Amino acid sequence: MLRVTEDGVEPATGAAGVRVMSMDLLLPSDDAPLRWRSPDAPDFLWQSTLEGGVLREFLADVRWGALDFLLIDAPPGTDKLTRLLQLLPQTSTLLLVTTPSEISRFVVAKSANVARQTAVRAQADTIGLVVNMAAHVCESCGHRTPLFDDDGHQSVTIDLPTWAEIPFDRRLALCTDRGSPFVLQHPDAPAARAIRHLAERLGGS
Ligand SMILES: [Zn+2]
Repeated sequence: MLRVTEDGVEPATGAAGVRVMSMDLLLPSDDAPLRWRSPDAPDFLWQSTLEGGVLREFLADVRWGALDFLLIDAPPGTDKLTRLLQLLPQTSTLLLVTTPSEISRFVVAKSANVARQTAVRAQADTIGLVVNMAAHVCESCGHRTPLFDDDGHQSVTIDLPTWAEIPFDRRLALCTDRGSPFVLQHPDAPAARAIRHLAERLGGS
C-alpha cells in the first residue's frame, strides 16, 4: 500500500533503499491489467494524454526527497521520449537498451535517430547504448556462448557508443523475482560487474 501524506505520495522503497514509483503500485490487484479508460472517446485517443498526465503526477506529486539520480524507465517507442524531455528538460543522459537480436537492433536504431534529434533540442548531451543478454557466460567455467547469431555484431548498425554489454545470467531473473539485488548477491558474476561498471559510468556523466 502506498502512503499518502499532505505533501504527496510516499514512494515504495526497494531492498537496497531505492525509491520506486510505478503504475503497477496503483492497480487494485497483482493480476489487474493496466487500462486507460475514457468517458466518451475510444481509449486509444486518450492513452497518450493520460500517460503524459501520469508521468507528470509521478514527478510532481510523489515525495521523492533528495535524490542522487532519477531514473525513468520508458516503454519502447519514440513518442514518449519527446514528451519526457519536455517534462524534464534537464535530463542529462539517455540510455537505449537493446538485445543483440536483429529485430531488436532494427527497432532501437530508429529510436536512436529520434533520441539524437530530441536530445539536441533538449541539450541532453549524452546518449548511450546498453546491450542486454549479450551472450551467456557459464557459471562454472566462464565459457562465453552467443545467444544470438554472432551476437548482433554483423546485423543492423546502431550509431551510438556502447556503454555496457550485460551477459545473460539466470540468477539475475531469480534475484529480481525475489526482490534481492543481484549485484549484492553475486557481486563477482560477469553480469553484476557489467551492471556496476554501467552505474559508475552513469554516476560520472
Ligand atoms: Zn561451463
